Amino acid sequence: MNRKQIQSLAAQHGTPLVILDHDIIRRNYAEFRRHLPKVQAYYAVKANPAPEIVRTLFKAGASFDVASLPEFMLVYENIKDLPAKEQQDFIWDKIIYANPTKPKETLLALDQYKPLVTYDNLNELKKIKQFAPHAGVVLRLRVPNTGSMVELSSKFGCDAGEAVDLVVAAFQMGLVVEGLSFHVGSQCTNFENFVQALNMAAAVMKESRDRGHAIKILDIGGGFPAAYNRHVKPFGTLARKINAEIDRLFSKDIQIIAEPGRFLAATAATSVARIVGKAVRDGKTCYYINDSVYHTYSGIIFDHCQYPVRAFKRGKTEICAVFGQTCDGLDTISQSEELPSLEIDDLVYSENIGAYSNASATYFNGFPPAQVVHVNL
Ligand SMILES: *Cc1c(COP(=O)(O)O)cnc(C)c1O
Repeated sequence: MNRKQIQSLAAQHGTPLVILDHDIIRRNYAEFRRHLPKVQAYYAVKANPAPEIVRTLFKAGASFDVASLPEFMLVYENIKDLPAKEQQDFIWDKIIYANPTKPKETLLALDQYKPLVTYDNLNELKKIKQFAPHAGVVLRLRVPNTGSMVELSSKFGCDAGEAVDLVVAAFQMGLVVEGLSFHVGSQCTNFENFVQALNMAAAVMKESRDRGHAIKILDIGGGFPAAYNRHVKPFGTLARKINAEIDRLFSKDIQIIAEPGRFLAATAATSVARIVGKAVRDGKTCYYINDSVYHTYSGIIFDHCQYPVRAFKRGKTEICAVFGQTCDGLDTISQSEELPSLEIDDLVYSENIGAYSNASATYFNGFPPAQVVHVNL
């Protein structure tokens, strides 16, 4: 998407605006498949739950990772033109419920679909047995998250030492452990995390097999880094490492899946906002825009992500601050942005803002989330 197109869409639809380019979604999915041809991608819907993305990715051949009952239903409703026969295979082939902690009401509602769900402790397993006895289960391992932008290992995953006992416990309860999963942390730029996780999973699989329980699915989770800037190492380099470890550690009949969220969605969106205020404080120019960290820029808070703010205007730049539209001091988009001199009503934009952005937007201060336009649907 070039600057002219962004400007013309903003003129047409107004601001704040999020422009979501489905050509980029399809391109990211194709890139994932090209580099990891043995890995089926289950798009992590929470990164950007737009139903349009679900439909685009479904048509491209993707499956889905959901984190809640509403997300499960969102995917189910959008892909249900499924072949009626072999529906059970279809559900597992298309949806994994990968949030290791599930309220019992959710399990009750999910049981009729015989879903694939994750667990990482005995309490969760008992809950699954009681409220969703028809579910297949996947054990989530705790793996190193060193250097990832968002770390998950303090919240989820069983220790390697207890993993096989949790596999055995599931089978003793009459549940079937279909798979092992892990998550190396989001925007993982330390590729050794994947190497270590794959080795840990291989060891657990082997010990489980030795104790009579062969596990069929390996779920290598999310964390694949989006190319936010030129410092992010290429995906191909990571993929080569993953492919090499998979070939070395796992037999050919293990089905390998992954849960990319950010990698598929991040680079597909550009946000556009309007300058609604301008002031000088302590000698620094401060711009106020009609979006905020409670809205499209929520990733600054929740995702530890920065989104450079760019102007359409050319000219000599200076260091300035960019604030959001709300009354909260936390609502700071940047304390040091390089922008030319801008005026009220000028437009600014941020690229690569498709993941964990409008997904976590609120109505704080009475401002609704930005309108989303889909292009190249
Ligand atoms: C959030 C999440 C993902 C997606 O992670 P990305 O870093 O966006 O790829 C995948 N799996 C699980 C279980 C998650 O919680």
